[in-house]
Amino acid sequence: MEALECKKLCPEWPCEDPSEYRGIWVVGEVVDGELSEASLQMLTPALKIASKLGDRVTGILVGHGVERHAKLFIEHGADRVIVVDKPELEVYYPTTYGQVIVDLARRCKPALILIPATMRGRELAPYIANTLRTGITADCTDFDVDEETGEVVMIRPPFGAILLAHIKTPHRRPQIGTARPNVFPVPPRREGRRGEIVRVDDIEIRDPGARLLSVEVIPRSEKPIEKAEVIVAGGRGVGGPEGFKLLEELARLLGGVVAGSRKAVDAGWIPHEKQVGQTGKSVKPVLYIAVGISGAAQHMFGVREAGVIVAINKDPDAPIFRQADYGIVADYREVIPRLIEYLRRASAAG
Ligand SMILES: Cc1cc2nc3c(=O)[nH]c(=O)nc-3n(C[C@H](O)[C@H](O)[C@H](O)COP(=O)(O)OP(=O)(O)OC[C@H]3O[C@@H](n4cnc5c(N)ncnc54)[C@H](O)[C@@H]3O)c2cc1C
Repeated sequence: MEALECKKLCPEWPCEDPSEYRGIWVVGEVVDGELSEASLQMLTPALKIASKLGDRVTGILVGHGVERHAKLFIEHGADRVIVVDKPELEVYYPTTYGQVIVDLARRCKPALILIPATMRGRELAPYIANTLRTGITADCTDFDVDEETGEVVMIRPPFGAILLAHIKTPHRRPQIGTARPNVFPVPPRREGRRGEIVRVDDIEIRDPGARLLSVEVIPRSEKPIEKAEVIVAGGRGVGGPEGFKLLEELARLLGGVVAGSRKAVDAGWIPHEKQVGQTGKSVKPVLYIAVGISGAAQHMFGVREAGVIVAINKDPDAPIFRQADYGIVADYREVIPRLIEYLRRASAAG
């Protein structure tokens, strides 16, 4: 982009010299007393970039009683963990947590901040980017380094996943990127690995202007799809909620859960939290049974980490057969009742 254009877009242009910014940060998220798997997964791209740039990876922990998670961050690959641990941070408020990370970033000048695209991360990342007046790339599927310029390249599918956009933020720092849970694996743990833990106590915690009165936990009847080992997913070919009852029975017998394509969600046959794909969730079951799903790129994006994919589709030319490990060309209404019958008999026989 031309300098002039940049100046029009950003009154503070030019920013400080980007080469003054060093280090790759991963923002940790502590939920229900645990450092989330989604935060640890962000260490995978962080370590890849750090090794290409000869830089180091820092985990960020903000909250109360969170310092004990620093060791886990280090054992999974962080070189250093910065901890802001205060009673005023007991409850998560996006602006308070965001402001702490902004203050840390202003002091330490990291080149890149990676944030998991969880519910919390989706609030924090744009807040941090906007306050720092820098660029953000959401829902990245990969990260790399431009070998000529040394800039971090954030890769994500735009426009319905038919292209891959390579996005850089040449004039502003830090660069900020998010990735959805399960897009990257958690790097292996090396117990006893050592790193630096830096406790920062002199950050001013601002009043969030809100007060948490109570928390109501909505009971979950089954595992969330991103944690399930077996998924039976239905698409438009299932034809309606009645068809999903068959899928639920099959999932129950296999010890799994049901999920769906966007078409099934849009039709109201299954809730949005169970949508698999680019605008839904990425899943990593051992077994994924796709029923009446054509296999559009945006759907298949969500099952890249699946073990075995079985497709049931009545159209022999359905694109899903090109990506499935096993394909059954049939009307699902003939196949699934037989599978259910077989599994019932097998479980009755012990
Ligand atoms: C920006 C963008 C983001 C998107 N994000 C997502 C996303 O996150 N997830 C997602 O799923 N989609 C997403 N989509 C939509 C995607 O492009 C497809 O339209 C969608 O995945 C198709 O859903 P489907 O396979 O259920 O339906 P269809 O494509 O209509 O396929 C239905 C299939 O069912 C088969 N069938 C019909 N009857 C039977 C039967 N009785 N037995 C067996 N097979 C049968 C048909 O042969 C057909 O192959 C996105 C699209 C865009 C543009």
